[in-house]
Amino acid sequence: MHRVKNHVLDLHLQANQLFDDLRAGSVDVVNRGVTRDTYGQGEQFAHELVEKHARSLGLEIRHDHMRNTYMVWPGIDRQAPALVIGSHLDSVLGGGNFDGAAGVMAGLIAVQAMQQAGLKLNCDVVVMGIRAEESIWFQVSYVGSRGALGTLPASALQQRRIDTGRTLEQHMREAGAEPEAVAKGVAYLSPKNVKAFLELHIEQAPSLALTGYALAIGTGVPGHFRFPRVKINGEYGHVGLGRRFRHDAALAGADLSVGLDALWQQWDAEGRLMACTFGEFQTNSARHGMTIVPGEFQFSLDVRAYDDADVVELEQALMAMVEQIEKRRGVKFDFGVRASSKVAKADPTITQQLRDCAKRLDMKVCDLPSPASHDSAAFCAAGIPFGFVFIRNPNGSHHPDEEMSIEDFLQGTAVLTEWLATHGDTNSSACSQS
Ligand SMILES: [Zn+2]
Repeated sequence: MHRVKNHVLDLHLQANQLFDDLRAGSVDVVNRGVTRDTYGQGEQFAHELVEKHARSLGLEIRHDHMRNTYMVWPGIDRQAPALVIGSHLDSVLGGGNFDGAAGVMAGLIAVQAMQQAGLKLNCDVVVMGIRAEESIWFQVSYVGSRGALGTLPASALQQRRIDTGRTLEQHMREAGAEPEAVAKGVAYLSPKNVKAFLELHIEQAPSLALTGYALAIGTGVPGHFRFPRVKINGEYGHVGLGRRFRHDAALAGADLSVGLDALWQQWDAEGRLMACTFGEFQTNSARHGMTIVPGEFQFSLDVRAYDDADVVELEQALMAMVEQIEKRRGVKFDFGVRASSKVAKADPTITQQLRDCAKRLDMKVCDLPSPASHDSAAFCAAGIPFGFVFIRNPNGSHHPDEEMSIEDFLQGTAVLTEWLATHGDTNSSACSQS
């Protein structure tokens, strides 16, 4: 085992500087926080920033057809499958500075620590800045990672960005990417050239902050099904209309949300993990009014769980509820486009090794199933094993108040560095995707 001696002060300053520069270049005064829009200016800035820093460390720079950024620290055997460490560099509108970016910075700091310690690994270590993870922009998940792995469906190219109205294909072209490679299913990354993927990410819930752990080892990424735009069609009516004549679309939406929430409460009581979110929930503002029975209602729905069988069970329960509501309220649900992703379990061998690394560094860690979706799931689906480290964040994410201390970040990075230094020349087991 090689123990990496961190030049702690240097790395502390370096990490602070990187995060400060990143914030300064993507600050959003209108929405507070930062905005690093997918295949837009904000994301582009972040890629250029990390690339510049990587060059200063002497890393090789590559880009794939998605315009993901690869910062390569060469190993002894250039043909050996690489260890890839990274995360996404985009953010939601008015998001926090650390969601995603922390995973890329962790890779750069880990490489710097190993360089300072005079280490040389057998295989390449690749720090990957991933594009387009935040599905809010194009309503498609894992665009950059799935594109790199050759698993992004060509239909995604025609999705329009919610603010610009332009397609993913157009945005990709503007960023210098090659959308035609997506249509051909080109796989830049595969189990042949990637031995394992490591991701560090802030926790998107306050559970670590509440239990007093600075770090957790992620055990899996939930599977989900999603409907970006569900429409309930009822009938507009006069406010004086009797109950039996109504086809109230808004109350039908309310029924479903209350029904699913009650189911969640029941699962919680039974210790079963799931989550459901109605991120958008509205009547038609062009036609609604205080004295009008709503004839239309629209919502988005994301339902997630940690076992594929649970995801199936939840979708069946949802559809059974919908059938009852349709009968009771005299309305029709139109679910529109459906997206889904499978549960991705972190590689058990890597997970145990990460726990052992933390122990050797005298750090207390717990296990944590991820509350959110992450690019790691796309790697797992493509047969590449992954390991995951969470950093404590008391304030949740996808808003400007997200928080991470540099001390916690450096602890998580030290665990990854220890893992890379220890396992950079050994084989890990295959991915276990359920
Ligand atoms: Zn993220």
